[in-house]
Amino acid sequence: MRAAVKLFTILGIEIKVHVTFLLLIFFVMLGGIKWVALVFGVFFFVTMHEICHSVVAKHFGIKVREITLLPIGGIASMSRMPDKPYQEFWISLAGPASNILVVLILFFPMKFLLGPEVLLHPLSTETWPLTMAYVFWINLILAGFNMIPAFPMDGGRVLRSLLAIWLGYVKATRIAALLGHIFAFAFAYFGIMRGNIILVAIAVFVYMAASGEEAQVNIKEILKRYRVYDILPRDFLTVTSETSLGKVLEMIFHSHQEDFPVVDGPDLVGFITRKDIMTAVHSSGVGAKVEAAMRKSFPKIKDTDTLIKAHKAMSDTGLRALPVMKGDKVAGVITIEDVSKAYAMVALRG
Ligand SMILES: [Zn+2]
Repeated sequence: MRAAVKLFTILGIEIKVHVTFLLLIFFVMLGGIKWVALVFGVFFFVTMHEICHSVVAKHFGIKVREITLLPIGGIASMSRMPDKPYQEFWISLAGPASNILVVLILFFPMKFLLGPEVLLHPLSTETWPLTMAYVFWINLILAGFNMIPAFPMDGGRVLRSLLAIWLGYVKATRIAALLGHIFAFAFAYFGIMRGNIILVAIAVFVYMAASGEEAQVNIKEILKRYRVYDILPRDFLTVTSETSLGKVLEMIFHSHQEDFPVVDGPDLVGFITRKDIMTAVHSSGVGAKVEAAMRKSFPKIKDTDTLIKAHKAMSDTGLRALPVMKGDKVAGVITIEDVSKAYAMVALRG
């Protein structure tokens, strides 16, 4: 996500804050130090919530590169969508469940520490103990808001995963997105009636995100219908493990290809990307051989694989291109641009 500042890295996940979050801190500074403490409390528990989603996602083999914190919640950027409904169910449930768990575990210690009057007092930042109670109850607000059964909230994903078991992915998504739109209108209505501008902003965000979820599933359905051989460019170049990096650079400049299968005799022995070449040229110079810089392990795509499988292999590995095999011979190179172009063409046709 753009316009975000990196804070730190935990469990290999970059934690970033969106600039609007910093603006929020600036505004609450005007409200006094207790408001700042409150915002940091929100920040802490939203981060915990997102990390719990991420840990479960990682358990299912989905990489999480970064978590971006926005004033209204966090977004964990996952390398791909979960394949199976039960995976989405557990990933989505993990975040709100962590907030509920905090409430359950800390309720009695907080009651003992602050006294029941302070803990059960309506939310306020008048005194420090009341601010602490506020931070504690934020967990219940986070869990409650996120469990609304509509996109893009976690509850919408839980609902989609359950409906998908009976109705299939596309229908389940339509329903969760429709509910998202309905809740967005409800938020907007109450926001306008009560003059609450934040609720109106949330309504707009929820509406757009619900539409986005729906569009994403449509992409997935289209990519499932086509196979790699439908879009594979016929012309491609290969290199051998003995080719010099200088020669490969020349090939990049004189063709539209940036990533090359490494073929010795009849066998595919490696794959070298533009990035691999640039890095290797920088460290070892143009005289070095492809063998020293090529990748030896990478997913091999068959020309009969679906585009969704090719796309998944690319996003899992972070590679922008992959070699395609027909039987045991190299049949070409497929890139992420090829897949997007194919999608754009099919989507235009409707
Ligand atoms: Zn969540």
